[in-house]
Amino acid sequence: MTPNASALLDRLAAIVGPTGLVTGEELRGRPASWTRPAEPCAALALVRPRDTAETGAVLTACAEAGAAIVPRGGATGLVDGILSAPDQITLSTERMTAIESLDPLSMTMVAGSGVTIEAVQNAAREAGLFFPLDLGARGSATVGGTISTNAGGLRVLRYGMMREMVLGLEAVLADGTVVSSMRPLIKNNTGLDLKQLFLGTEGTLGIVTRAVLRLRPEPAGYATALVACPGVDDGARVLRAAQSAFQGRVSSFEGLWPDFYRLMTKPGRATPPLGPDYPFYAIIEVECVAEETDRFLDLLDRLMGEGTVLDAALASSEEQRQGMWRIRDRVENMNADGIVRAFDVSVPLDRMDGYVRGALARMAAIPDCRVVVYGHIGDNNLHWNTTDLDGPGNAAIDAAIYEPLADLNGSVSAEHGIGLEKRGKLGLSRSAEEIATMRLVKRALDPDNRLNPGKIF
Ligand SMILES: Cc1cc2nc3c(=O)[nH]c(=O)nc-3n(C[C@H](O)[C@H](O)[C@H](O)COP(=O)(O)OP(=O)(O)OC[C@H]3O[C@@H](n4cnc5c(N)ncnc54)[C@H](O)[C@@H]3O)c2cc1C
Repeated sequence: MTPNASALLDRLAAIVGPTGLVTGEELRGRPASWTRPAEPCAALALVRPRDTAETGAVLTACAEAGAAIVPRGGATGLVDGILSAPDQITLSTERMTAIESLDPLSMTMVAGSGVTIEAVQNAAREAGLFFPLDLGARGSATVGGTISTNAGGLRVLRYGMMREMVLGLEAVLADGTVVSSMRPLIKNNTGLDLKQLFLGTEGTLGIVTRAVLRLRPEPAGYATALVACPGVDDGARVLRAAQSAFQGRVSSFEGLWPDFYRLMTKPGRATPPLGPDYPFYAIIEVECVAEETDRFLDLLDRLMGEGTVLDAALASSEEQRQGMWRIRDRVENMNADGIVRAFDVSVPLDRMDGYVRGALARMAAIPDCRVVVYGHIGDNNLHWNTTDLDGPGNAAIDAAIYEPLADLNGSVSAEHGIGLEKRGKLGLSRSAEEIATMRLVKRALDPDNRLNPGKIF
């Protein structure tokens, strides 16, 4: 270790206390990320400030020492956004886990950036309220991480992405300046909405330390069905009809193509409510009271009469509802079957059928390529999972999935972000002028490129 590095670590330990700095073997014992469980965290040190003031002091110290900082929340991000180099400092929010306050009247919560989404959901529920963001990684993903990736998940259709759930936040800039915009206001048109700088920018413009979250009334109940349709376009018609019938209260609409459905309902996995040979399946969930279930059944009957739905199963208990969600949620089943490369893209709904057919046809010609496709199709979001073929095979898969997107007005990242993994793909979704403007903002806030360098650009 150089004398400068050693002096920086001494200074950081003085700021956060001896237990706030993790180095050496203890640090190497931590995995690099959720997607790289066997790789050790490569940073010079992991620093764990307890609050905004300590975060500010850490960033000032790093700025003066010329050290780069990589923010880290629950480490569940899927695009290598928290990978660090051996000379960089990882800043973990794991000690900023206080839920500072919850106001049931204005339906707001103030939470530290290290609070997990599950803890936010539970605290809201205990107060008779509801925090709508939900994702498979809820037990580890944090407030700061989901803000920084503008996470989406299972209820975007009704409640929007994380951006819609943040009223205010506090962030620390690269030079240690604290920008506090912790107002619990829905309306606040007083110039630039600075919190947007930190939403979805993957820790490249500042470190989020606290946030004011917007809570919602708890839904009175759900009606959940699995439907089989002739194709994704019919699925879109089902969604449209349900939105009209229930005044926009469809909270999830998850598309499942047959290979995905069959993989998830193999013996020993989720129980299949419908046969395995339909061309397209969707889980549809509507927020409604029990008395409205008949209306949901009538809707499904009508759609079956029209041929838009071929078959349908309605969950008649919470256990059956959870069983349906297990078909969608158990992503570990794909890993168990060796279908391990995950893709997250967006395509306009009216172009989705042609896009999926075209990409599947291209991948069918790649030797040993296995692929499944599913996603939050009500939000235009498709997830592909494929085998890992190394070298040219993977390049051909990438081309089949990414190349058509630019012409379709799609996106190379629907909800996971860019990180390191998709840097080379950014130009497929954003124009040269857009990327140049992003770089201008980055240079203005972090002229020495010290905050999460190399991520996004
Ligand atoms: C099983 C599973 C299911 C998932 N499902 C979904 C899904 O449905 N929808 C979805 O959108 N994502 C999903 N994800 C991806 C992931 O959970 C989200 O990206 C989540 O927002 C990451 O939160 P985190 O706390 O783990 O952040 P990390 O992985 O630790 O970090 C993510 C990025 O944010 C930055 N960052 C973290 N904390 C801060 C902070 N306080 N200030 C500034 N920058 C920060 C990091 O540098 C990194 O660039 C899933 C992941 C898994 C493993």
